[in-house]
Amino acid sequence: RLLPASLLLALLGGGATFWLVRRRLSLHGALQGALRRQELQVHYQPIFHLASRRCIGAEALMRWQRPDGSLTSPELFIPLAESTGQIRAITDFLLREVLEQLGDLLRNHPELYISINLSACDVSAPRIGPLTERLLARHAVRPEQIAFEVTERGLIDLQAASRNLAELRARGHRVLIDDFGTGYSSLAYLQTLPVDCLKIDKAFVDALGADAASSGVAPHIVRMARALRLKVIAEGIEHEDQARLLDSEGADYGQGWLFAGPLSAHAFRALIGGALPGAPAESFPPRRRQ
Ligand code: C2E
Ligand code: MG
Ligand code: MG
Ligand code: MG
Repeated sequence: RLLPASLLLALLGGGATFWLVRRRLSLHGALQGALRRQELQVHYQPIFHLASRRCIGAEALMRWQRPDGSLTSPELFIPLAESTGQIRAITDFLLREVLEQLGDLLRNHPELYISINLSACDVSAPRIGPLTERLLARHAVRPEQIAFEVTERGLIDLQAASRNLAELRARGHRVLIDDFGTGYSSLAYLQTLPVDCLKIDKAFVDALGADAASSGVAPHIVRMARALRLKVIAEGIEHEDQARLLDSEGADYGQGWLFAGPLSAHAFRALIGGALPGAPAESFPPRRRQ
């Protein structure tokens, strides 16, 4: 009369799994449609040299605008795309779009670079290097003008990642560790991993106080990076005193709403052309594009 507990649990578990699978399938389908209908857009957040406040390039950030105008955050759809394997198509699309939108700007400004976020499956195989090479050749852009960001989560297969990141560097690209300090990996990898730069996560920039002594770990990350001869970009700078303190502690570059939020390709061009003094931050969800 009574169902055995194990059977009951199995049924309940099965139901939950069914629900998750259905939800995943529907998001998978929606993302597939988004790729087909070109609802994905790339925005560009400028990166500045802290001491001179010169723009040295931008980070490419993915946006998904639904047909009804609503915006889905990359924090939601990137992890989904990673779990379904759709991230490869997204990364390919992003690379093509960046060069199509900004190829001529990069040609005319050889000092600028664009930084691309890579997922674990992008760095676990030697796929990105040859693809980027073809695109760069088509647009006559130099490999130094494309940088790649990987998070510590992207280093799960450390051996394969090291190999492929070394290959990207040998091709002339820069490699950056994104969200540095928020993952669980050991610091030992920093000594062996082929990287050029650490991006200090916003969480550590938020913690900056009035001086170095009350500022948490950010100044120490800067010092460690310099000892390892790595450049430092601070992320999520919202206040002038944060920018000043980071500069005085020796951080090289910064990005954040203080300077500019993520911009459309059009607005980023205007900023480089000198038409925008310091563009306004993108409010999330950003203003609708015409
Ligand atoms: P991330 O690479 O660490 O990017 C920085 C995030 O911080 C961006 O959020 C940016 O809009 C936001 N941000 C920048 N400055 C400020 C600031 O001053 N204040 C605040 N509150 N936020 C700021 P976004 O665009 O929502 O991207 C979130 C994450 O999604 C990214 O973190 C990255 O991990 C991932 N992502 C975005 N685009 C791509 C992509 O094309 N490929 C991959 N694999 N991941 C992506
Ligand atoms: Mg990034
Ligand atoms: Mg980051
Ligand atoms: Mg992040």
